[in-house]
Amino acid sequence: MIGTVERAHARIDRAALAHNVRRIAATAGSARVVAVVKADAYGHGAVACSRIAIDAGAGALAVHTIAEAEQLRMHGLTAPIIVMGPLSGGEWVRAGETAVEVVTWTPEGVYAAVESGVAGVHLELDSGMGRLGARAEEIPALSNAAVASGASVVGIMTHFATADDRDGDQAGFFGEQLVRFRAAATALAQTFPTARIHAANSAATFRDPRAVFDMVRCGIALYGCSPFHEDPADLGLVPVMTVMSYVAMVKTIRSRDSVGYGRTWRAQRGTRIGLVPVGYADGYARALGNNADALVDGRRVPVVGAVSMDQITVDLGPESTDGVGAPVVLLGGTGPQRITAEELALRRGTINYEVTCGISQRLPRVYVG
Ligand SMILES: *Cc1c(COP(=O)(O)O)cnc(C)c1O
Repeated sequence: MIGTVERAHARIDRAALAHNVRRIAATAGSARVVAVVKADAYGHGAVACSRIAIDAGAGALAVHTIAEAEQLRMHGLTAPIIVMGPLSGGEWVRAGETAVEVVTWTPEGVYAAVESGVAGVHLELDSGMGRLGARAEEIPALSNAAVASGASVVGIMTHFATADDRDGDQAGFFGEQLVRFRAAATALAQTFPTARIHAANSAATFRDPRAVFDMVRCGIALYGCSPFHEDPADLGLVPVMTVMSYVAMVKTIRSRDSVGYGRTWRAQRGTRIGLVPVGYADGYARALGNNADALVDGRRVPVVGAVSMDQITVDLGPESTDGVGAPVVLLGGTGPQRITAEELALRRGTINYEVTCGISQRLPRVYVG
């Protein structure tokens, strides 16, 4: 039989992404929405997602690397782009050529930014994340360098370490960072009155209106995933990615037969096994072996046996009538029968971000809606 479906793909729902942009904008009030499209838009395709986000009302884009910014410019995106990661050597020249805004936290960075002719500089303060950003005692030198160099300071920013933790051990730290940042940013804004103040990622945007300031930088929520690792529907977000494949083979096995590498699963009863031609090379993590469900023709069935590089196996059940060609959803779906990135993340012991970022380039992105 010649199959009617391709092996597998990641379907990207444009309408869902546009909906999520508007949902974030409604939450952020008058603040500008920056669509964070780093890491190929968390696996959703940076060029397409950037266009959709801008059309739906996002005012700017943010990426981590200069190469990511270059890709967007090459595909005709003219919106402001913020490169949030560090730049080194020749990357500064490329940043000038790409007309991006950059993030700096040192006097050297400010001078490099001015020399390279970038479109603007965001001064990043470390209010408690403990990664990029100037500590309180480093702010005066940073500010002086920005004044002395004549830098165009378009932003004053920070990043929260625990915005996603609303109720846990670290819940209070978010408030501490907010207080520290507000004080430092308000003082700096005296010197740079046209700079936009921004701090919030997706979690902070939905968690606390006081974190919104002039601009929000949202990634995970754009893609319809919950920044709080809960059901995204609780926040009115709609998942954007669906990973689809099909049953490529069905076989009947006997009780005690094993399936897959290492014989990690044995049938407790005679049953029908479906083979789905997707594996860890596609980003379906090996940790999901004997540890996840798939939707076969909308019906939830367990993934049994090890996840191979190119294949997984599901237990269709002894009574099943699913044949070769039955549609399989590994991530996504609608209604009660759906598999969220949050569910797969919980099974794997990771976060939803890693689930969508991990969907590999072997799965073509197919844009619908
Ligand atoms: C990735 C990133 C964001 C977006 O975070 P989400 O949790 O995906 O909304 C915002 N700000 C910075 C500095 C980032 O690196």
